[in-house]
Amino acid sequence: MLDHRPIYLDCQATTPVDERVLAAMLPYFSQHFGNSGSMGHAYGWEAEAAVKQARCTLAAAIHASPEEIVFTSGATEANNLAIKGVAEAYLERGRHLITVQTEHSAVLEPCRYLQSLGFEVTFLPVQPDGLIDLSQLEQALRPDTILVSVMAANNEIGVLQPLSEIGTLCRSRQVLFHTDAAQAIAKIPLDVEAMKIDLMSMTAHKVYGPKGVGALYVRRRKPRVKLAPQLHGGAQEKNLRSGTLSTPQIVGLAKAVELACSEQESESRRLTELRQRLWQQLCQLDGVYLNGHPTQRLPGCLNVSIAEVDGASLLLGLQPVVAVSSGSACSAAKPSPSHVLTALGHSPQLAAASIRFGIGRFNTASEIDRVAQQVIATVQSLRHSGFSDAELLIAAS
Ligand SMILES: *Cc1c(COP(=O)(O)O)cnc(C)c1O
Repeated sequence: MLDHRPIYLDCQATTPVDERVLAAMLPYFSQHFGNSGSMGHAYGWEAEAAVKQARCTLAAAIHASPEEIVFTSGATEANNLAIKGVAEAYLERGRHLITVQTEHSAVLEPCRYLQSLGFEVTFLPVQPDGLIDLSQLEQALRPDTILVSVMAANNEIGVLQPLSEIGTLCRSRQVLFHTDAAQAIAKIPLDVEAMKIDLMSMTAHKVYGPKGVGALYVRRRKPRVKLAPQLHGGAQEKNLRSGTLSTPQIVGLAKAVELACSEQESESRRLTELRQRLWQQLCQLDGVYLNGHPTQRLPGCLNVSIAEVDGASLLLGLQPVVAVSSGSACSAAKPSPSHVLTALGHSPQLAAASIRFGIGRFNTASEIDRVAQQVIATVQSLRHSGFSDAELLIAAS
């Protein structure tokens, strides 16, 4: 049954749960099902011990302390807690925040919400390679700036922002630094001490863990970050995030991060090779452009724009063979070009004819070769026969 589905190359959207992660989670559904807040009996203690172990594992992966981890429902919630929580807690110090135009909507939208409440937000542009210009960041800092939020790895083009440099700059100005590390956690080395990160959002489902669980790292010393909770209730997670902790999900998050960290070096090398293999084959075509910095990027993420083809027809032609995402977001009925590719300076048409290949743990070299062949054949056919003949291709395949 699996074989009839297209090859999955959309690992920036989500990843399957690794069987080893699933196995670690299973006992916590119906056997060790207790509430980690039930301190009066063994069922609660079992759950509490598992959560404590997970907290230690996650903290160790980023060089934090266990008390600095707040479990959430994912990176969207972690970003909301970090951004709105800091804005509310530091109101008297200032009302200015800085972020970047290419951030995920889970950062951009909380910032826009704060603007509607009277906060000022600077949305920094990026350079053509997708990286921010540090001198522009420095110039944007003001005496009333309370937070800088810059993502670790971009979810569309995979570029890695210079976290250490940003952290050093922010610390020297006593401005808090938050990073959305949803795409980066356990895939690249992350060290909240060395990189001077004060808040970091994480999620499990981009790294072979379950959907619906994540965490926020919140620095507790030098400096101690104040946060206003965004959910009020039973005061779990030191009152920063109320709600009964999902033990199986939390165990899954920690197991996923632990596995990916232990395999990080060899897996990065393997994914980089597969990415280069795909890119080299696609370069047989004329008018293919790499989006984002060539080396400062996630090992498994390749985003390309292809000139002289219609984006929608290209996607339609690829659909039966490979599951990828395009450079346009079909949020409403009408697809609009990606805000990330537009920020790189692409025309709407070139932005629309873009493909994000998200290569992951379970992809093989032969899959990459099949995908490359299909892309080349589809592009050549579309260019030869004019636009929007993808239906013919589908009928033929
Ligand atoms: C996937 C993603 C998110 C959202 O994470 P969820 O856990 O799905 O809420 C936020 N930021 C980035 C960069 C992402 O890639």
